[in-house]
Amino acid sequence: MTATAHALIGGSLAAAFPDNPAMGISLAALSHPFLDMIPHWDLGTGWKKKSKIMLFIQASLDLLLGVVLVFLLFGKMVDPLYLALAVFMSEAWDILFMPYLLFNWNFFPFSAFYRVQHALQGKARLPWGILTQAATVTGLVLVLRTIH
Ligand SMILES: [Zn+2]
Repeated sequence: MTATAHALIGGSLAAAFPDNPAMGISLAALSHPFLDMIPHWDLGTGWKKKSKIMLFIQASLDLLLGVVLVFLLFGKMVDPLYLALAVFMSEAWDILFMPYLLFNWNFFPFSAFYRVQHALQGKARLPWGILTQAATVTGLVLVLRTIH
């Protein structure tokens, strides 16, 4: 999924357990592969046809958008360090294979993260790939809001 989608889920997990960072951060990390199994489109779709610079810029903007939205939505509910860690852990799986994509670091652990991620990705074309994602994120954020 897009970094924005992962960040929003990570942030809402932190907001669901504002006093339990161990829980929120673990769930944020665990949420990633499950979310990626839902058919979706993201900036990594067709990455072999993109220039590395373009991929890096797009991925960075995606991550930045996610961080801004998370702090706008949950910044007042959760300790900022906890929130930042939850977002980081929700993205960690993708961050860990970026060196493989960007620098061709085809060795452990980056290659392993790439292979796991590649095998798990549920792919869908636009616009469906964005709609499934928007529906999943909106649904999960709303459900998690009822916890706390
Ligand atoms: Zn992913």
